[in-house]
Amino acid sequence: MFNENLKWYFPASIPKAVQLIEQPGIILHGGGTRILKTQSRSIIGLVDICNLKLDYIKQKNNLYHVGAAVTFGKVVKFSKENNCLSMLGTALSEAASTPVRNRITIGGSIKDFPLWSNLIAPLIALDAKVEINNGSSKIIPIEEYITSGMIKTKHLVKEIIIPEDEKIIWRIKRFTLLKFEYPIFNIAIKFKFNGSLVHDAAFVITGVKNRFKRFNKAENIFMEKNLSEKLIKQAMKFIEPKFVSDYKYSSAYKEKVAKIIFEDLLLDIAGVKQ
Ligand SMILES: Cc1cc2nc3c(=O)[nH]c(=O)nc-3n(C[C@H](O)[C@H](O)[C@H](O)COP(=O)(O)OP(=O)(O)OC[C@H]3O[C@@H](n4cnc5c(N)ncnc54)[C@H](O)[C@@H]3O)c2cc1C
Repeated sequence: MFNENLKWYFPASIPKAVQLIEQPGIILHGGGTRILKTQSRSIIGLVDICNLKLDYIKQKNNLYHVGAAVTFGKVVKFSKENNCLSMLGTALSEAASTPVRNRITIGGSIKDFPLWSNLIAPLIALDAKVEINNGSSKIIPIEEYITSGMIKTKHLVKEIIIPEDEKIIWRIKRFTLLKFEYPIFNIAIKFKFNGSLVHDAAFVITGVKNRFKRFNKAENIFMEKNLSEKLIKQAMKFIEPKFVSDYKYSSAYKEKVAKIIFEDLLLDIAGVKQ
């Protein structure tokens, strides 16, 4: 149940919104899908971001800027219509349901980062950055935003910045046993090639212990080499996702399934018939 004295605010500028959330019990409201679920009585004010002009997707200097108020649904539509941001667009198209995707915002999803997030694994794999404002503006890599603890502080997410790169080869996997369930984990794999040689790679999983894991050692195995089944077998030794058991699945089960999926996706990219 919400606090009966809950007050709504509709500021028209970022400084005003940031000033409001400095007060205890006053938080930002994006799509409200998480806030509605928790309905904490300690929330006494909601600062809606709808008047902050953050509902944009722009392309500038080989970068996409996606404002915090953009919904998952809008990213999916933009990706399809403009034939771009394909990894992110596909990942977000698989989240929740159409009506819920039309509510969930990029800003709320970054700050919230639920275990079942469809957003964070592709953003890390794509080397995305996040612009935040807590009185002053900062742009930081999404990985650092999470690992430094910045994610837990009070701030406004203004936008995400994603390098334009249509030349990547990618795979994603949202693992659920039933399609409409929250995913148990999300995997994002990216490769960039220079000719036939791997020039860049990112293997990321979310839903694990410590929220996400990037397998840098496994990625390094492929650098400046031809992608082959032999290298994939070598890399798999370094892909050891660690999970927490829950009421449905043991950590051992989740670890086994995640490893199998990683290997299948890598073999698929390498064109190895399975
Ligand atoms: C039935 C259902 C199924 C779902 N399934 C999935 C799924 O499969 N995959 C998936 O990725 N997500 C899924 N979600 C969404 C996910 O669980 C969160 O609810 C969502 O990511 C929160 O986004 P929001 O915009 O609604 O944030 P809100 O609920 O508005 O806010 C969430 C938090 O972020 C803060 N916040 C909001 N905007 C900003 C901002 N601009 N800057 C800083 N802080 C901000 C708020 O203060 C609050 O603390 C699902 C949700 C529902 C209801």
